[in-house]
Amino acid sequence: MLMPARTDQIANHLLAALPRKDFQRLHPTLDLVTLTFGEVLYESGDAIRHVYFPNDALVSLLTLVEGHPALEVGVVGREGMVGTPLALGIVNSPGCALTQGSGTAMRMTSSHFHKAFRDSPPLRREVYRYIHALMIQVMQTAACNRFHMVEARLARRLLMADDYALSNTLHLTHEFLANILGVRRVGVTKAAHTLQQQNLISYSRGDITILDRNGLEAAACSCYKIIKNAVNA
Ligand SMILES: [Zn+2]
Repeated sequence: MLMPARTDQIANHLLAALPRKDFQRLHPTLDLVTLTFGEVLYESGDAIRHVYFPNDALVSLLTLVEGHPALEVGVVGREGMVGTPLALGIVNSPGCALTQGSGTAMRMTSSHFHKAFRDSPPLRREVYRYIHALMIQVMQTAACNRFHMVEARLARRLLMADDYALSNTLHLTHEFLANILGVRRVGVTKAAHTLQQQNLISYSRGDITILDRNGLEAAACSCYKIIKNAVNA
């Protein structure tokens, strides 16, 4: 069900960075929606009918490779927006966008987005900045998947979820984690066990809780800081 968005319900950083005047013009075109775990926002090739600015929802960007489960190539949370191809004049989604952490987002139709993008230089600036940060994330994730150990990648991925979705408890099954990290399930089980033994996380029936954030940062690969700094640049 759609609800009008109150300003105090909007926790998305991209929207928050807009000057008040630009935000107020945008505000009536934003709907507050709840995204639930497992909800597909776009399949690969789908027309992008809406863009989403997550507040505390977390969305995985997945790419398909024939004969393999979908691989995660990016994550979008409160720092960004889902549907960036529209800003580049592309109307179909190149990959799949899957809700991986339930929460709310601000949703806007593609026609409202096109109009706002045309009329608001600050919105263009913020969206372009975000696209650049997302490109760095995708590039770094490609290298990370190839070179870094599963344990360090898992630590990075958990920290990113914590940063982007404001939640230090994540519902992630081993199977889902194995798919998004592109490794076998046994590899994820072993990595989660190691992090748990070091008292960095607790893991129970698919719920992962971060117990020691500083320790988890030390266990994560260097990609974590690179991706984080790109968002904050
Ligand atoms: Zn890495």
